[in-house]
Amino acid sequence: MGPIPGDGDDKLYEECGVFGIFSQNTQRDVVPLVYYGLFSLQHRGQESAGIAAINGEAMDSRKGMGLVGEFFTPDVLGQLKGYGAVGHVRYSTAGSSSIENAQPFVSRFKLGSIAVAHNGTLTNADVVRELLEDAGVGFISSSDSEVIVNLIAKNYRKGLEKALTDTIQFIKGSYALVVLTDNALVGARDPNGIRPLCLGKTEDGWILASESCAIDAVGGEFVRDVEPGEVVIITKEQVLSFSFSEKTRRAVCSFEYVYFARPDSVIDGVDVYESRIRAGEILGRESAVAADLVIGVPDSGVPAAIGYGRATGTPYGLGIVKSKYVGRTFIAPDQSLRERAVSVKHNVIHSEIKGKRVVVIDDSIVRGTTSRRLVAILRKAGAREVHIRVCSPPVRCPCYFGIDTPHRKDLISNGNSVSELCEAIGADSLAFISVEGLLEALDGMGGYCLGCFTGEYPMPVPGEDREGMSDGL
Ligand code: SF4
Repeated sequence: MGPIPGDGDDKLYEECGVFGIFSQNTQRDVVPLVYYGLFSLQHRGQESAGIAAINGEAMDSRKGMGLVGEFFTPDVLGQLKGYGAVGHVRYSTAGSSSIENAQPFVSRFKLGSIAVAHNGTLTNADVVRELLEDAGVGFISSSDSEVIVNLIAKNYRKGLEKALTDTIQFIKGSYALVVLTDNALVGARDPNGIRPLCLGKTEDGWILASESCAIDAVGGEFVRDVEPGEVVIITKEQVLSFSFSEKTRRAVCSFEYVYFARPDSVIDGVDVYESRIRAGEILGRESAVAADLVIGVPDSGVPAAIGYGRATGTPYGLGIVKSKYVGRTFIAPDQSLRERAVSVKHNVIHSEIKGKRVVVIDDSIVRGTTSRRLVAILRKAGAREVHIRVCSPPVRCPCYFGIDTPHRKDLISNGNSVSELCEAIGADSLAFISVEGLLEALDGMGGYCLGCFTGEYPMPVPGEDREGMSDGL
C-alpha cells in the first residue's frame, strides 16, 4: 500500500525540480517568485517542497511534505523573505520519503550558511558519505544530496569557487545543483548534463531552473542552458561562469523529452512539444496501421498523436479524458483498486470510439498495467480494433541517474518480445518507436542518454558493468 503514482503506477518518475533566483537589488523579496517557480515545476516532484532564502542577515528555510500549494500556505510563505532564494520539489526513492530528506539542505557553520537543492542521483554517494563520517561529519538524512552540502561545507574555508570545484570533482553521477550562500547563487550541471538546468534573467536579477517553463512562470527571460560541466556563480556584482571539467560529453536524459518535462519547456535547444510531435510523425512512418481514429494518452501522448495523424492522414480525435484532480499522490488502498485507478484517472469518450479502428499513442510502457486497462476500456466503449503505438523504445533497464524505475523484473519489456507484450495487454497490434527514430525526434544530433532503453549508460553505474554494451535493440 502506498502512493499510487498517477497512471496506475505505470510510469517512470522524475525525482526533483530545482529553482533559484538572486536579485541584485537587495530590497527585493524574491520568495514569492520561487513559490511560482516551484509551482510550475510541480510535475517533477510531489512529495515535498522547500525554500531557503537570504535577507542580508541570516539564511532561513521552510520545507514540508506535500504539494507546493499545500505546504506553502500564505502564512508559511510569509515567514520567509529575501533577495536570494532557492527552492526544491521532490519525488524520490534515493532516501526514504520523510521530512528529513526534503530539500533544500541547509548547513550553518563558522564561515556562513549554504543551502543546496539537487536534482539527480550520485553514483558514489555511499563512498563519499563514509569518508565524511570517518572525518567526523554528521548526517541527519539518508539523502545523497546531503553529501553534497557537507562536502561543500567541509571545503568552504578554501573559498566558494574552490569549495565547489573540489566538491564537484569528488562526486559522480547526475546532478543539476542550485546552491545559495550568504552572498551568491550558484548553479552546476554534471559533466554529462544528464539532468537539465537553465539560466534566465529578471529585470534586476538572475534565475536558475530545471526547466524553462519555470522562467516563463515568473516573467523572466530565458538566457541559455547551463552547459554540462559548467558552474555559474551569481553575486550582487557579477555573473561568473567556468567549466570545472575537461571531460564533458553531453548525455541529456532522453526521457525528459518523452515524458518528464512540460511541453512548454525547451531543453538544450530542443523544444519538448515539437519533439513529441516529431516522435508521432516518425511512429507513423515506422509503423502505420489502417485506422479510423488516432488518439493520445494525456498528457504527453497527445502531441505525438497529432504528429501520427499528420504523417498518416488518420483523423485525430480526443478519445481519452484525464481527470485533472487525480494527482500523482492519489492513494489506492490495495493492488486491485490500484489497477482500477486507471479508469479513475483516464476515461474514454464513448461516442468518439464506438465502432472505430483506433490507434492509441502513449509515451511509454513501463509495467504494462495502464496499457492493459486502456485497451480493455476502449474495447468496452465499442472500439472495433485497438492498436497501441509508443513514442519511446521498450524500457528494459533501470535508471541510475535520478529517475525512479521499477525493478528490472517488473519492466514488462525486459524478457518479453513485442508480440508477447501485445498479447499481454490485449491489443490488436503494438509497436514502439525505434532508438534511431527517437534520436531523430530529438534533433538527430546525438548527445542523449538512452540507458533505460539500451542498457548503454554514459558512465559506469553501480552493480552493472554495462557501459558501451547493448541489449541488442
Ligand atoms: S537511464 Fe533513461 S531515465 Fe535515466 S537518465 Fe538515462 S534516459 Fe533518462
